[in-house]
Amino acid sequence: MKAAFKENRKKGLTIIDLPKPKISNNEILIKVKKAAVCGTDIHLYEWNNWCENVNAKNPMIIGHEFSGEVIEIGNNVKSIKIGDKVAGETHIPCGHCEMCKTGKEHICENMQIIGVHTDGAFAEYVTIPESCAWKLPDNIPYEIGAIYEPFGIAVHGLYKTTITGKDIAITGCGPIGLFAIQVASAGGAKNIFAIDLNDYRLKLAKKMGTNIITINPKKESVVNIVNKYTKNKGVDTAIELSGSIIGTQTSFELIKKGGKIVLIGLHSDKVPIDFVNNVIYKEATIYGITGREMYDSWYKATALIESRLVEPKKVITHHFNLEEAEKAIKTAQQGNCGKIIIDIE
Ligand code: ZN
Repeated sequence: MKAAFKENRKKGLTIIDLPKPKISNNEILIKVKKAAVCGTDIHLYEWNNWCENVNAKNPMIIGHEFSGEVIEIGNNVKSIKIGDKVAGETHIPCGHCEMCKTGKEHICENMQIIGVHTDGAFAEYVTIPESCAWKLPDNIPYEIGAIYEPFGIAVHGLYKTTITGKDIAITGCGPIGLFAIQVASAGGAKNIFAIDLNDYRLKLAKKMGTNIITINPKKESVVNIVNKYTKNKGVDTAIELSGSIIGTQTSFELIKKGGKIVLIGLHSDKVPIDFVNNVIYKEATIYGITGREMYDSWYKATALIESRLVEPKKVITHHFNLEEAEKAIKTAQQGNCGKIIIDIE
C-alpha cells in the first residue's frame, strides 16, 4: 500500500510502498477514504523537540485524523462489522489505569496516540483498536468523518461552559477555533469575538455563524473592542486556541468577574499570567482541555452535525491527494488555510 512515511529523525516525509498492515484480535483494518492534516503532523514532519518529548515512533506512517471503511475485523471484535463506515478516535487508552477506570479514558495514564506512537492514517490502510472506532451515520460523508476528531475537541471545550446568551472570546482561528465558533454560534452565544493575527483566517471566521466580531490584534485593540460590546465587563468565557503567550494573556484579561477560561492551545514555553488580577480577584474558573471525552464529545458532535446546527465542511479550504502529503503539510504550516483534507480514495 501507498503511505506517507517518516523515515528518520530529520525534517521530511516520503511516499513509499509498504505491506498492508495485519490486525490483532482486538483490532480492525480500515480502508482509509479521507484524512486531514493537524498541527501534530507538522511537528512530525519537522521532527522538532515535541516529537522527542512525546517519544514519537520513528520510522512511522503519520496521520491521525481520518475516516474509512472497515474491511477486516479481529476475532474478539464485537461492536464493529465489515463494511461499517468509521472515524478514528486518536487516543488509545489502556483501559486499566485509574483514569480509564473513572471515566476519563481521554487522559489515560498510559496513552498511546495513533499516528504518533502507532502507524497512522496517511496511507491506504490503517489498523486501530475496536475501542477507537466511531461508527458514522450513513448521512455523514467520509470528508466530515475525517474532521470529527478536531471538531470533537471544540465540542469538548465549549461544553465545559454555558454558551446560550453568553459573550465568548476565541483566541486563535485555526481549524479548531473555527469549529469552536460554529459550536458557540449554534449554541446561541450573544457575541463571539474571533481573534487572530491572520486576516485570511478572520475572513473564514466571519462565515462560521452569526454575531461574530473579528479582531486582528495587529491592527486594533482587542480589549477596547470587547469592552465596547460588553459595556466594560468583559466576556463570560474565553476559549484559548492560539497556543501563544500573548494570546493566552489576552484571554485572561478579557474574562469578566466570575468568568471562565478554557485552555486548549499548546504552548512551547511557560506562560506568565497575572493570577492576582485575572484569576483570584475575578474568581475565574480555568479548564484545561485535551482531546475528546470518550465518547461523550463524539455523541454531542454527531448530534450537532446531523441536525445541521453546524457545518464543519465550511472549515475545509484545501484538498490534496496522498502523493501530495508534503505539500498539504506545508500549506497547513504557512497558515492561509482552514482544514486540509487528503483524499486517499
Ligand atoms: Zn488508562
